[in-house]
Amino acid sequence: MSDPMRVVRLCHLYPAEMNIYADRGNIAVLARRLEWRGMRLEVTGAGLGDAVLPGEHDLYYLGGGQDRDQALVAADMARTKGDALVSAVEDGAALLAVCGGYQLAGRGYVGVDGSSMPGIGLLDAETVAGDTRLIGDVLIDATLDGETREVAGFENHAGRTHLGAGAVPLGTVVAGHGNDGHDGTEGVVRLRAIGTYLHGPLLPKNPWVADTLLAWALAHRTGEAVPLAPLDDVLEDRARAVAAGRARGERSERLIGRRAQAPAGS
Ligand code: GLN
Repeated sequence: MSDPMRVVRLCHLYPAEMNIYADRGNIAVLARRLEWRGMRLEVTGAGLGDAVLPGEHDLYYLGGGQDRDQALVAADMARTKGDALVSAVEDGAALLAVCGGYQLAGRGYVGVDGSSMPGIGLLDAETVAGDTRLIGDVLIDATLDGETREVAGFENHAGRTHLGAGAVPLGTVVAGHGNDGHDGTEGVVRLRAIGTYLHGPLLPKNPWVADTLLAWALAHRTGEAVPLAPLDDVLEDRARAVAAGRARGERSERLIGRRAQAPAGS
């Protein structure tokens, strides 16, 4: 029988509603990176109406959704799962919340039509939809466990997210929009929870983020740091380099476009 300490228990929150950004791809990466190391990911879903019991999972995943789906999920999550998720993270479980999930893991989201959706307040971030969508490749310098690395992804959100005074962003924007399009921050990290707008999906081309989440989940599972054997990430690194180049290139094209439109002499 396999050693239960070598099984990471992942809870996929609202897989039917919050799933528009290749969220299953992110989960497949987590599963495969464990398998390559002789471990296993056990995935259970928790949908509308389902309760979550703190202590039953090592890692929670909450994906992105359209405003319509988010509205359904927001009310349900606040009612059936909010307190348990906050306790779980405060007790050392890990969480990745992407895009719409990030907004709902925060204090709440006011959608494009002005409707207010409650968040669970796990992350100190407040989001209000703007008039335009922030779309495109995005590159950030992300810091996790005191280490800073380049992380690449794609963003597509109407929400402008503002962090509370004491909140720690996931990273600083190198190219793209980030939390609100202005303040140069992207995402937020609290304990072992990450909220981010980066998808596309995020984890296949950023294995360092995947391994950080797995290390956190294994630490929760076993009560101690579990060293993760290094893997051959040549393809993953190449994919990230392409996405990073696209993000940088889009930015310079935009700048060139602006210059071309600027009046002579400016
Ligand atoms: N509906 C939210 C927004 O537009 C989140 C979208 C998403 O998950 N991409 O900001």
